[in-house]
Amino acid sequence: CGQCVAYCPTGALAIRNDVDKVYKAIEEGKYVIGMIAPAVRASLQEEFGMEDDIAMAGRMVSILKMIGFKKVFDVAFAADLVAYEEAHEFMERLENGEKLPQFTSCCPGWVKFAEQYYPEYLPNLSSVKSPQMALGAIIKKYYAREIGVNPEDIVLVSIMPCTAKKFEAEREEFEGDIDIVLTTRELVKIFKATGIDIKMVEPESFDRPYGLSSQSGLSFGKTGGVLGSVVKVIEDKVNVKSVNTREIAQGVNLTEVELENGKVVRGVAVFGLGNVRKVISDIKEGRLNADVVEVMACNYGCIGGGGQPYPNDVRTRARRAKILKETQSVDVLISPTENFHMRELYTKYFGAPLSHEAHEVLHTEYKHRKRIEEEEIEILPLPDVEDK
Ligand code: SF4
Repeated sequence: CGQCVAYCPTGALAIRNDVDKVYKAIEEGKYVIGMIAPAVRASLQEEFGMEDDIAMAGRMVSILKMIGFKKVFDVAFAADLVAYEEAHEFMERLENGEKLPQFTSCCPGWVKFAEQYYPEYLPNLSSVKSPQMALGAIIKKYYAREIGVNPEDIVLVSIMPCTAKKFEAEREEFEGDIDIVLTTRELVKIFKATGIDIKMVEPESFDRPYGLSSQSGLSFGKTGGVLGSVVKVIEDKVNVKSVNTREIAQGVNLTEVELENGKVVRGVAVFGLGNVRKVISDIKEGRLNADVVEVMACNYGCIGGGGQPYPNDVRTRARRAKILKETQSVDVLISPTENFHMRELYTKYFGAPLSHEAHEVLHTEYKHRKRIEEEEIEILPLPDVEDK
């Protein structure tokens, strides 16, 4: 995936095809549920010769329903939830002065890299699951019960810009919450096989309740989005005097949040595993002060993910970032805190952020891994990737 092609620890070079599993689940009459990540809607049009299209998510929902999906949810909903929970975790650590800086953990490329190369920082990783795994757990544990369907009959298909998400879904601690992970390129194969003209498809809304998201949730699709969302939640919780973001190195942005009491919280957003090494060494050696660090393995975050269409170059990523921003701009909710369906989960099930129930369902743990690990997945030839 982008810059990390040379040393990506996630298995991102091992491209596996899971398309047939989706057809099989539909044929077997399973209750197939889809969930779409933010960055996928910013790149799909590239494969269909379309202009920039902020209604792409709605077109995806329509086609998935036509081919037999029962429900389609938005992973941006779960991004709101993750940002909300993670901001509370950060505020607690800040108050106690422990396990800082807090590192984000929603990028499995980064998580596995940390498990292999920076085990000393594992306690600093946020224990909140990624949006993919949080939504998987909620659907299998609560939603199945609400709609009266046996979780065993649900096949949950996660549509991601990312090959590392396949690895994440198979981590033993997640107990099969996500059944199939499709990359954007695999989704393209399915859509092309239908023969449906995507340009002519009437967009449909995501299903509720997990189809509602804020601008913040959607921003998880690109670098800085998770940090920005966490800052939004902090702004909702405490009085903030100012928020300023600036680039401090290539691939590294610093956000300074000045609180009413004069304290300044420093957040760093970094993409690219090479840049991460540099940021960590700067933190270790006292050249960089940070309270919270967002890490994305791919260039410019998930819009440049390893499962996205080719070419995945600088110009293409800039176009995807622009589409994502335009898509965000029509969303009426700005902060994760405003997502009332997300807050409903706290009323119905979790009680409060970081509660026992929230920990059971939304949090996880990490383990020190060997540096070189054989992944039992089929290796297919890698197409040429332009990445200049
Ligand atoms: Fe996957 Fe996004 Fe991380 Fe890339 S940045 S490995 S696409 S989660």
